[in-house]
Amino acid sequence: MNKKLYVISGSSGVGKGTVLKGFLEKHPEYMLSISCTTRKPRPGEVDGVNYFFISKEEFENCIEQDKFLEWAEFAGNFYGTKKKYINQCLFDGKDIILEIDTKGALQVKKRMPEAVLIFICPPSYEVLENRLRGRHTEDEATIQKRLNEAKIELERAESFDYKIVNDDLKKAISELEKVMGCENA
Ligand code: ADP
Ligand code: 5GP
Repeated sequence: MNKKLYVISGSSGVGKGTVLKGFLEKHPEYMLSISCTTRKPRPGEVDGVNYFFISKEEFENCIEQDKFLEWAEFAGNFYGTKKKYINQCLFDGKDIILEIDTKGALQVKKRMPEAVLIFICPPSYEVLENRLRGRHTEDEATIQKRLNEAKIELERAESFDYKIVNDDLKKAISELEKVMGCENA
Protein backbone atom coordinates (compact mmCIF):
# COMPACT_ATOMS: atom_id res chain seq x y z
CA MET A 1 0.00 0.00 0.00
CA ASN A 2 1.23 3.46 -0.91
CA LYS A 3 2.06 5.55 2.14
CA LYS A 4 1.01 9.15 2.14
CA LEU A 5 2.30 12.49 3.23
CA TYR A 6 -0.24 15.00 4.55
CA VAL A 7 0.51 18.66 5.18
CA ILE A 8 -1.63 20.65 7.61
CA SER A 9 -1.38 24.43 7.64
CA GLY A 10 -3.43 27.28 9.02
CA SER A 11 -3.00 30.59 10.80
CA SER A 12 -1.31 30.62 14.17
CA GLY A 13 -3.97 30.08 16.84
CA VAL A 14 -6.57 28.53 14.50
CA GLY A 15 -6.32 25.25 16.41
CA LYS A 16 -4.04 23.06 14.23
CA GLY A 17 -2.34 21.55 17.27
CA THR A 18 -5.66 20.94 19.03
CA VAL A 19 -7.32 19.32 16.00
CA LEU A 20 -4.25 17.16 15.36
CA LYS A 21 -4.05 16.06 18.99
CA GLY A 22 -7.69 14.90 18.83
CA PHE A 23 -7.08 13.18 15.49
CA LEU A 24 -3.90 11.39 16.63
CA GLU A 25 -5.58 10.13 19.82
CA LYS A 26 -8.03 8.30 17.55
CA HIS A 27 -5.44 7.36 14.90
CA PRO A 28 -2.09 6.73 16.59
CA GLU A 29 -0.86 4.89 13.48
CA TYR A 30 -0.12 8.25 11.82
CA MET A 31 3.30 9.77 12.45
CA LEU A 32 3.52 13.49 13.23
CA SER A 33 6.74 14.99 11.91
CA ILE A 34 8.86 16.82 14.49
CA SER A 35 10.23 20.06 13.05
CA CYS A 36 13.38 21.99 13.89
CA THR A 37 12.95 25.56 15.10
CA THR A 38 15.01 28.47 16.37
CA ARG A 39 12.02 29.62 18.48
CA LYS A 40 12.43 29.38 22.25
CA PRO A 41 10.39 26.59 23.89
CA ARG A 42 7.08 27.60 25.51
CA PRO A 43 6.49 26.41 29.07
CA GLY A 44 5.79 22.70 28.92
CA GLU A 45 7.32 22.15 25.48
CA VAL A 46 9.94 19.42 25.36
CA ASP A 47 12.95 19.18 23.02
CA GLY A 48 12.57 16.21 20.68
CA VAL A 49 8.82 15.97 21.40
CA ASN A 50 7.25 19.26 20.30
CA TYR A 51 10.22 20.45 18.25
CA PHE A 52 13.95 20.04 17.98
CA PHE A 53 14.93 23.41 19.44
CA ILE A 54 18.18 24.46 17.74
CA SER A 55 20.27 27.63 17.43
CA LYS A 56 20.17 29.90 14.39
CA GLU A 57 23.72 28.78 13.56
CA GLU A 58 22.73 25.09 13.60
CA PHE A 59 19.70 25.92 11.46
CA GLU A 60 21.86 27.75 8.91
CA ASN A 61 24.26 24.77 8.78
CA CYS A 62 21.33 22.47 7.99
CA ILE A 63 20.26 24.79 5.15
CA GLU A 64 23.81 24.83 3.76
CA GLN A 65 24.02 21.04 3.92
CA ASP A 66 20.62 20.73 2.18
CA LYS A 67 19.17 18.76 5.09
CA PHE A 68 15.68 20.27 4.90
CA LEU A 69 12.79 19.06 2.76
CA GLU A 70 11.41 22.56 3.33
CA TRP A 71 12.06 25.47 5.64
CA ALA A 72 10.66 28.95 6.23
CA GLU A 73 10.93 32.03 8.40
CA PHE A 74 7.73 32.63 10.34
CA ALA A 75 7.12 35.66 12.57
CA GLY A 76 10.84 36.15 13.25
CA ASN A 77 11.87 32.51 13.78
CA PHE A 78 13.05 29.72 11.49
CA TYR A 79 11.25 26.38 11.11
CA GLY A 80 12.19 23.36 8.99
CA THR A 81 11.43 19.70 8.27
CA LYS A 82 14.40 17.35 8.01
CA LYS A 83 14.45 15.19 4.87
CA LYS A 84 15.99 12.28 6.77
CA TYR A 85 13.05 12.00 9.20
CA ILE A 86 10.40 12.07 6.46
CA ASN A 87 12.23 9.61 4.21
CA GLN A 88 12.72 7.20 7.12
CA CYS A 89 9.00 7.29 8.01
CA LEU A 90 7.93 6.72 4.41
CA PHE A 91 10.54 3.93 4.09
CA ASP A 92 9.14 2.33 7.27
CA GLY A 93 5.71 2.38 5.60
CA LYS A 94 4.12 5.02 7.82
CA ASP A 95 1.63 7.71 6.80
CA ILE A 96 3.09 10.99 7.93
CA ILE A 97 1.62 14.38 8.85
CA LEU A 98 3.53 17.67 8.66
CA GLU A 99 2.12 20.64 10.60
CA ILE A 100 3.89 23.54 8.92
CA ASP A 101 3.24 27.04 7.57
CA THR A 102 1.87 27.71 4.08
CA LYS A 103 5.25 28.70 2.57
CA GLY A 104 6.66 25.34 3.65
CA ALA A 105 3.53 23.51 2.46
CA LEU A 106 3.91 24.89 -1.06
CA GLN A 107 7.61 23.89 -1.12
CA VAL A 108 6.61 20.33 -0.18
CA LYS A 109 3.96 20.22 -2.94
CA LYS A 110 6.60 21.24 -5.49
CA ARG A 111 9.00 18.51 -4.39
CA MET A 112 6.36 15.87 -3.71
CA PRO A 113 3.27 16.58 -5.85
CA GLU A 114 1.51 13.56 -4.35
CA ALA A 115 1.44 15.28 -0.92
CA VAL A 116 -2.08 16.19 0.26
CA LEU A 117 -2.37 19.81 1.46
CA ILE A 118 -5.04 20.61 4.08
CA PHE A 119 -5.74 24.13 5.35
CA ILE A 120 -7.49 24.74 8.67
CA CYS A 121 -9.56 27.95 8.57
CA PRO A 122 -10.90 29.96 11.50
CA PRO A 123 -14.67 30.65 11.63
CA SER A 124 -13.73 34.36 11.51
CA TYR A 125 -10.75 36.67 11.99
CA GLU A 126 -12.15 37.77 15.39
CA VAL A 127 -12.34 34.18 16.63
CA LEU A 128 -8.76 33.62 15.45
CA GLU A 129 -7.55 36.67 17.37
CA ASN A 130 -9.43 35.57 20.51
CA ARG A 131 -7.95 32.07 20.34
CA LEU A 132 -4.43 33.37 19.81
CA ARG A 133 -4.76 35.78 22.75
CA GLY A 134 -6.62 33.22 24.88
CA ARG A 135 -3.69 30.80 24.63
CA HIS A 136 -1.50 33.24 26.63
CA THR A 137 1.71 31.95 25.07
CA GLU A 138 2.87 35.03 23.13
CA ASP A 139 3.59 38.66 24.00
CA GLU A 140 1.70 41.47 22.24
CA ALA A 141 4.41 42.11 19.60
CA THR A 142 4.46 38.41 18.67
CA ILE A 143 0.64 38.27 18.55
CA GLN A 144 0.65 41.20 16.09
CA LYS A 145 3.27 39.52 13.88
CA ARG A 146 1.24 36.31 13.87
CA LEU A 147 -2.03 38.11 13.05
CA ASN A 148 -0.31 39.84 10.12
CA GLU A 149 0.98 36.47 8.87
CA ALA A 150 -2.58 35.10 9.21
CA LYS A 151 -3.86 37.33 6.40
CA ILE A 152 -1.10 36.18 4.02
CA GLU A 153 -1.65 32.54 5.02
CA LEU A 154 -5.36 32.80 4.15
CA GLU A 155 -4.47 34.02 0.64
CA ARG A 156 -2.11 31.08 0.09
CA ALA A 157 -4.85 28.66 1.18
CA GLU A 158 -6.29 28.90 -2.34
CA SER A 159 -3.56 26.51 -3.54
CA PHE A 160 -4.49 23.83 -0.99
CA ASP A 161 -6.31 20.57 -1.82
CA TYR A 162 -8.78 20.78 1.10
CA LYS A 163 -10.05 23.38 3.56
CA ILE A 164 -11.57 22.59 6.95
CA VAL A 165 -13.21 25.22 9.18
CA ASN A 166 -12.31 24.69 12.84
CA ASP A 167 -15.48 25.97 14.49
CA ASP A 168 -16.74 22.96 16.42
CA LEU A 169 -13.68 20.88 17.37
CA LYS A 170 -15.34 17.45 17.02
CA LYS A 171 -16.68 18.37 13.59
CA ALA A 172 -13.26 19.59 12.45
CA ILE A 173 -11.64 16.31 13.59
CA SER A 174 -14.28 14.25 11.79
CA GLU A 175 -13.81 16.30 8.60
CA LEU A 176 -10.09 15.66 8.82
CA GLU A 177 -10.81 11.94 9.15
CA LYS A 178 -12.92 12.10 5.98
CA VAL A 179 -10.27 13.96 4.02
CA MET A 180 -7.65 11.46 5.14
CA GLY A 181 -9.89 8.56 4.22
CA CYS A 182 -10.07 7.02 7.67
CA GLU A 183 -13.58 7.96 8.83
CA ASN A 184 -14.52 4.29 9.22
CA ALA A 185 -11.19 3.17 10.64
P1 ADP B 1 -2.37 26.43 16.52
O1 ADP B 1 -1.71 25.09 16.75
O2 ADP B 1 -3.08 26.51 15.22
O3 ADP B 1 -1.45 27.60 16.72
P2 ADP B 1 -3.79 25.78 19.01
O4 ADP B 1 -4.12 24.34 18.77
O5 ADP B 1 -2.68 26.09 19.97
O6 ADP B 1 -3.52 26.56 17.62
O7 ADP B 1 -5.13 26.50 19.49
C1 ADP B 1 -5.18 27.86 19.87
C2 ADP B 1 -6.20 28.03 21.00
O8 ADP B 1 -7.52 27.81 20.47
C3 ADP B 1 -5.99 27.04 22.14
O9 ADP B 1 -6.21 27.72 23.36
C4 ADP B 1 -7.07 25.98 21.88
O10 ADP B 1 -7.51 25.38 23.08
C5 ADP B 1 -8.19 26.79 21.23
N1 ADP B 1 -9.02 26.03 20.27
C6 ADP B 1 -8.60 25.21 19.30
N2 ADP B 1 -9.65 24.70 18.59
C7 ADP B 1 -10.77 25.24 19.13
C8 ADP B 1 -12.18 25.11 18.84
N3 ADP B 1 -12.65 24.35 17.85
N4 ADP B 1 -13.04 25.82 19.60
C9 ADP B 1 -12.58 26.61 20.60
N5 ADP B 1 -11.28 26.78 20.94
C10 ADP B 1 -10.36 26.10 20.21
P1 5GP C 1 4.59 27.85 16.54
O1 5GP C 1 5.68 28.81 16.85
O2 5GP C 1 3.22 28.41 16.92
O3 5GP C 1 4.82 26.47 17.08
O4 5GP C 1 4.55 27.69 14.95
C1 5GP C 1 4.47 28.82 14.13
C2 5GP C 1 4.21 28.41 12.69
O5 5GP C 1 5.31 27.65 12.20
C3 5GP C 1 2.97 27.53 12.52
O6 5GP C 1 2.26 27.99 11.37
C4 5GP C 1 3.54 26.16 12.29
O7 5GP C 1 2.68 25.36 11.47
C5 5GP C 1 4.79 26.52 11.52
N1 5GP C 1 5.79 25.45 11.50
C6 5GP C 1 6.08 24.53 12.46
N2 5GP C 1 7.04 23.69 12.04
C7 5GP C 1 7.36 24.06 10.78
C8 5GP C 1 8.27 23.55 9.79
O8 5GP C 1 8.99 22.58 9.96
N3 5GP C 1 8.32 24.22 8.62
C9 5GP C 1 7.54 25.30 8.34
N4 5GP C 1 7.65 25.86 7.14
N5 5GP C 1 6.68 25.80 9.23
C10 5GP C 1 6.58 25.18 10.44
